[in-house]
Amino acid sequence: MTRELHDMGVAELGTALAAKAVSSTEVTKHLLARVAAHEHLGALLASDPALALQQAQTADTQRAAGRSGALLGVPLAHKDIFVTSEWPTTAGSKMLADYRSPFDATVVARLGLAEGGAGMVTLGKLNCDEFAMGSSNENSAFRPVQNPWDVSRVPGGSSGGSAAAVAARLMPAATGTDTGGSIRQPASFTGVTGIKPTYGVCSRYGMIAFASSLDQAGPFARSAEDCALLLGAMSGFDARDATSAERAPQDFHAAMLKPREGATAAQPLKGLRIGLPKEFFPAALAADVNGAVRAALAEFEKLGATLVDVSLPRTELSIPVYYIIAPAEASSNLSRFDGVRYGHRAEKYTDLLDMYKKSRSEGFGAEVKRRIMIGTYVLSHGYYDAYYLQAQKLRRMIADDFQACFTQCDLIAGPVAPTVAWKLGANRSDPVANYLADIFTLPASLAGLPGMSLPAGFGEGAMPVGLQLIGNYFQEGALLQAAHAFQQATDWHARTPSGY
Ligand code: GLN
Repeated sequence: MTRELHDMGVAELGTALAAKAVSSTEVTKHLLARVAAHEHLGALLASDPALALQQAQTADTQRAAGRSGALLGVPLAHKDIFVTSEWPTTAGSKMLADYRSPFDATVVARLGLAEGGAGMVTLGKLNCDEFAMGSSNENSAFRPVQNPWDVSRVPGGSSGGSAAAVAARLMPAATGTDTGGSIRQPASFTGVTGIKPTYGVCSRYGMIAFASSLDQAGPFARSAEDCALLLGAMSGFDARDATSAERAPQDFHAAMLKPREGATAAQPLKGLRIGLPKEFFPAALAADVNGAVRAALAEFEKLGATLVDVSLPRTELSIPVYYIIAPAEASSNLSRFDGVRYGHRAEKYTDLLDMYKKSRSEGFGAEVKRRIMIGTYVLSHGYYDAYYLQAQKLRRMIADDFQACFTQCDLIAGPVAPTVAWKLGANRSDPVANYLADIFTLPASLAGLPGMSLPAGFGEGAMPVGLQLIGNYFQEGALLQAAHAFQQATDWHARTPSGY
């Protein structure tokens, strides 16, 4: 092999495995050694080398017996918010420190080796903010994650472990979840590619609920092509999720490769109209982020796309709207952690109420408690109409604003976050500063639209900058196609942090 195994992406590994140039066992061993060598990053909360190698062996045996598949034997790891029967599942919380699920989440099962799965090998579970609440991974009850581009900086959140693991080449892909930006923002902060599909495309069954009307699963990988392969395997209707989209299985990889009408070799995106909401380029946007995003957009123009000015007038309001709706849903979802049914139970208590109180006070971290209090407040009698109901109305208007834009353009583009990754500890004492940094990812989440982040250059401190692309409902194929064309013409996505 001329290339190191950890430098190979999902598609490339799939090809090498199919050609029997390498075995899953060899790849898995190599990556397990990297996971161990880079433990300092804090990307994984659990790994089980013996189990991973056993899975790799199974994949190799199946391949020898004639099974094929683009993902068969390719390793990945899962955000620790997906329940798994073979690894612990903590959701980054002390509340679930010793929890073991009796079943696998649908996404885990669909990617895995069991019957009907894509045959991927699981290396372990990835660190995340507690119950996926956060933007820096510092809300993990276990430990923060370091950004491989600069270990004194955050990797973003809440899927910080997933992003750091892919960026550090510990694995070619990882799963994540995005409620208000948790795939796109960490992808942007670590220079990897991530896609959050339309709400309902991936099953939420077995994904520990944060805000059920917003939560969506999606992949992290180095390229749009790799994301397309993973998304194809992860997605699809699931009768066990009442909000699962009833659609035929989609081949996102084929959709990505399908030439656009009128496209030429030099201009694969000819005729594509990309809308730039003026609210996504405010004066407060960091100059380095603005510069990288504008340069990436100029590249899209070279590929044949035209840029059109559009407006999403309620962009700023998406922050209060999200930070009412998400905590409201969280306060309800987290009521199940009561010391009786799941997880942590206080050792000493006087009566049942005292047991609830102590178990919850001990099990939940500060940010989770803050959200439960906000959520309970906005849903309480007397405040419901003033906050929750108003937020729901605005949510609808935000979704309508996108539809107005999509009469003028096919895709929407902008930055993922207002700055590059900040220093570990920088926003620790200021939760609102964290909330404000979600401004560009929340609108698509509230509208349920697909969004992705792709590496678009570098900014302050030589840190990666991501470009966000947002599509209309179920337009993942168009998003991936545009991202793929960009990645064929540029190499930002292939850059590796030094030392990895
Ligand atoms: N940063 C947002 C929050 O803290 C989004 C998190 C997410 O998408 N899970 O809620």
